[in-house]
Amino acid sequence: MNCPPAYCACALLAFCVVPRGGQDKPIKQVTRAIAEPPGEKDLGKRAYKHVARLVAYGPRTPGSQARANAADYICAHIKALGLQPIREAWNDKKEKLRFENIRVVLPGRSDKTLLVGTHYDTKVELDHEPGEDEQAFTGANDGGSGAGLMLAMLEDLVHLKMHKPTLEFVWFDGEESLPAKWNIDRALFGSKHFVKKHLPGKAKGGHDYGAFVLLDMVGHKKLAIDREATSTKALFPPIEAAVAKLGYGKFFFKKDTSVDDDHVPFLNAGLPSIDLIQFEDNDEWHTYKDTMDIVSWRSLAIVGRVLWQALPAIEARFLG
Ligand SMILES: [Zn+2]
Repeated sequence: MNCPPAYCACALLAFCVVPRGGQDKPIKQVTRAIAEPPGEKDLGKRAYKHVARLVAYGPRTPGSQARANAADYICAHIKALGLQPIREAWNDKKEKLRFENIRVVLPGRSDKTLLVGTHYDTKVELDHEPGEDEQAFTGANDGGSGAGLMLAMLEDLVHLKMHKPTLEFVWFDGEESLPAKWNIDRALFGSKHFVKKHLPGKAKGGHDYGAFVLLDMVGHKKLAIDREATSTKALFPPIEAAVAKLGYGKFFFKKDTSVDDDHVPFLNAGLPSIDLIQFEDNDEWHTYKDTMDIVSWRSLAIVGRVLWQALPAIEARFLG
């Protein structure tokens, strides 16, 4: 098994008692053979359930009650896992909107942090066929898939006791452009806010982030993750190796694309970042057809397992 000691330290099944975040009552956890990612059906079905729950709240546009409900759901699940959600809300005076990012930190033996993120908001106005604006845009794949998958991954990652770097998950609000037509000045609110707040450099009180992996539209039933051109080139080999190891070659990097997404503010701040996104073969993108009908539990599982498998190599390269 090609994995650094950090991920192999708990290769044998063992029981241990750990304090539950912020509470006195200990819970029994199983430290698992973490070199192996969770099974497809196991991870995929749990992720799908979370996506469906989030989508059921309705359009999760910035400032909406449904967006707040989705945030509450994410935070409640984080708490149920014994972790502490960090809610970071702010008012955007210009847009007259209140946004909210949600973070959770899995402390490691080092402060050096690998950040994994996604957005959980949905688009306000669509830019496709006339008339579609009036229909509900549920954002099952675009806004739901990454958010649900990360919750399911957290259910497994919380059991990893010996990972060396710190892992942080973040759910961004306000990724989508507020106007129908893309306007980067009125989009990426959550990631811009995060970078401004947390990436001033460790010396100035910021966090010690080593790399960022973004998940966006990762649940399409005809999964085809693109090679996103603005992403940091050196982050592809760990992902490619994981894809090859798991036999998922046909689902990854067959097409090139280039998108403005939540990784852009991080790239601009100098943090190595990759966007795992299905943008090219995605006819339902920003249409009312982006519903649970186009989301597949297996696709969610495939992306999650690849990320899981790639974590040690990413950490070895960027967080050593
Ligand atoms: Zn979108």
